[in-house]
Amino acid sequence: MDIHEYQAKELLSSFGVNVPRGGIAYSPEQAVYRCSELSGERWVVKAQIHSGARGKAGGVRICSTEEEVSDAASWMLGRKLITHQTGPQGKLVSRLYIEEATNIAQELYLAFVMDRKLERVVVVASAQGGMEIEEISEKEPESIVRSVVDPAVGMQAFQAREIAFSLGLDAALIPQAVKTITGCYRLMEEKDANMVEINPLVVTGSGEIVALDGKLSFDDNALFRHPKISELRDKSQEDPRETYAEDRGLNYIGLEGEIGCIVNGAGLAMATLDMIKQSGGEPANFLDVGGGASPERVLMSFKAVLNDKNVEAVLVNIFAGINRCDWIAEGVIRAVKELELTLPLVVRLSGTNVEEGRKLLSESGLNIATADTLAEAAELVVGAWKAAKAN
Ligand code: GDP
Ligand code: MN
Repeated sequence: MDIHEYQAKELLSSFGVNVPRGGIAYSPEQAVYRCSELSGERWVVKAQIHSGARGKAGGVRICSTEEEVSDAASWMLGRKLITHQTGPQGKLVSRLYIEEATNIAQELYLAFVMDRKLERVVVVASAQGGMEIEEISEKEPESIVRSVVDPAVGMQAFQAREIAFSLGLDAALIPQAVKTITGCYRLMEEKDANMVEINPLVVTGSGEIVALDGKLSFDDNALFRHPKISELRDKSQEDPRETYAEDRGLNYIGLEGEIGCIVNGAGLAMATLDMIKQSGGEPANFLDVGGGASPERVLMSFKAVLNDKNVEAVLVNIFAGINRCDWIAEGVIRAVKELELTLPLVVRLSGTNVEEGRKLLSESGLNIATADTLAEAAELVVGAWKAAKAN
């Protein structure tokens, strides 16, 4: 789960990381009011969406009059901001964060990520911040510092100091840098974050280290341990298809294609996506119905899949071990009837109670194509989809 920048900054601040003062605004009027609260001469108006690269898309504006603040706020609020991270549909701006402007002397990059191979948290830092890490690794690869954290001891001050020195920071800045680095690590560990990224982390004109931006991402599977963080979830920033499925306990990931998929087991689901592609189609989603799926759960899966308006054909692929093919068939039949499904539908059943399942389907009198193997099922559904499209 991702959270907004202002929420990330509040958390970072509670772990001892310096952040600029700021306040949230939902209207241009509130934005101007925030400026008077903050006082000062320059403010930054920042669109709060779950995406980076807002600056290039007009979502970060430095202003020196209240009129500029009001104009920037009017422009951003209600707009779907399109960055190269949001996809072409963009993300809706409904909150702004208004901050006192910071006088930047140097922009650094600092991130904490999970390295799956090492099974460790790795700190990635660079003295060339401001641009994205992909760009840094292209343009200034030798500036990137990597440091692996030993989970048994966590981030120690000496290791943080080492990182700060390799960034070429002035000796006077080292204590602040150490506080920032150890604070981020404690946050990551205590709150089960997957990622902490501060870009840019800046050195100000007056010699302070401040997090000007903040991105935090949390492990969904650990959110139950952090109710306060769960509350920060903003569903308006998430893929509505995934939110719908997740709220119903389904393991679903939205994709770009037209063939909706209902499969049991993550491995078989992945293989199914591959087979659809190999047959010349594009999957619309990944969906694992899980083991022991009841007819109700199958019906719910259909709802989640059909909730995506791009879906033009559906493939059900079940290899029943814990599952029961007759239950699956029952669920399929209910879905076709209750949802008045007219799209091409292919069902492949195999395993426990397969005969009963197939019998139910064939006796239903519904227009359901069946297949014996995964390859056959993929061919069938892509063929049916193409035929329907041609009509
Ligand atoms: P992002 O584009 O979504 O990553 O948003 P950021 O919060 O990182 O802002 C983009 C850029 O705007 C930063 O890299 C800075 O160069 C600039 N910026 C943001 N806040 C300030 C500020 O207070 N003062 C100055 N001078 N520049 C800022
Ligand atoms: Mn940034």
